[in-house]
Amino acid sequence: MAAEASSSSMETAMSPVTEEEVSLTVKWSGKEYTVAVCGSDTVSELKRRICEATNVLPKRQKLLYPKVGSKLSDDSLLLSQIPIKASIKMTMIGTLEDEIFVDQADSADIVDDFEIGQEEAVDIKDKEVNKQKLRRRIENYKIKLRNPCREGKKLLVLDIDYTLFDHRSTAENPLELMRPYLHEFLSAVYAEYDIIIWSATSMKWVELKMDQLGVLSNPNYKITAMLDHLAMITVHSDTRGIIDCKPLGLIWGKFPEFYGPKNTIMFDDLRRNFVMNPQNGLTIKPFKKAHASRSTDQELMNLTQYLLAIADLDDLSGLNHKDWESYNEDNVKRRRHS
Ligand SMILES: [Mg+2]
Repeated sequence: MAAEASSSSMETAMSPVTEEEVSLTVKWSGKEYTVAVCGSDTVSELKRRICEATNVLPKRQKLLYPKVGSKLSDDSLLLSQIPIKASIKMTMIGTLEDEIFVDQADSADIVDDFEIGQEEAVDIKDKEVNKQKLRRRIENYKIKLRNPCREGKKLLVLDIDYTLFDHRSTAENPLELMRPYLHEFLSAVYAEYDIIIWSATSMKWVELKMDQLGVLSNPNYKITAMLDHLAMITVHSDTRGIIDCKPLGLIWGKFPEFYGPKNTIMFDDLRRNFVMNPQNGLTIKPFKKAHASRSTDQELMNLTQYLLAIADLDDLSGLNHKDWESYNEDNVKRRRHS
């Protein structure tokens, strides 16, 4: 398919990288790697595919290609806007991350969160190009099950940074930066939910962090799987430009007999991560300044109550998770009156 795409190349304006998937050859450290991309992918997604092949993190990659100027350093550009051809090899310069804590401070989440209108969100979710991106992620991303999916359980998907852990503060022991009641929360909700961790960082960091916090060895609950930045997709919003998000459809596509829109809820401090599945996301208050907020943060305790209350429902998709706090209060009242 790569050859076909390159044979009809027009010189400059139109890129031969079209909606069809093409294979690009990337040279790095004396070896060649093949990555599959299409014209609706952004430079940022190309870098993620290169990361899958080489393990060099996207932020560490510099891409070189003749006659494209600095276009490949703009992560938001679509590949269809850059005159690259499958027949010409790309060079990547970048080093593997040995010391993976070095750069936490410049990771991507400095960007402010924002809300995307209901109509636009529906539009983004239903766009053919985004559905196609999702299908390609389902085909290419491997989810390693740490523990089997359990029949009849709902699914809870959890972000890490600022959701379970304050990654910006410093401490001698990472446990000091863990959100209060994390283990109590996971132990309690495990009765009703399978638990999947999904972070926009690399798998190495996800594994290390979860291990250090004792999440992988706690006898009271089990983690079903962990996903990283390579499972994410980039979508285009007319009002907000390029957005990286965590499409739950990836998990639903991999395990359709267990999980779907009706039984899944995801917690993240960044609302934009839900853009492909707004009905399933709960925006959690970010856990920041751990040393000061540790004594007062009750978020996970309160959310335990919510998750257990809604676990009785057959279909979660009709809930408005924004109202979770009042749902809790009403629930207390309901119980008092019954
Ligand atoms: Mg986060």
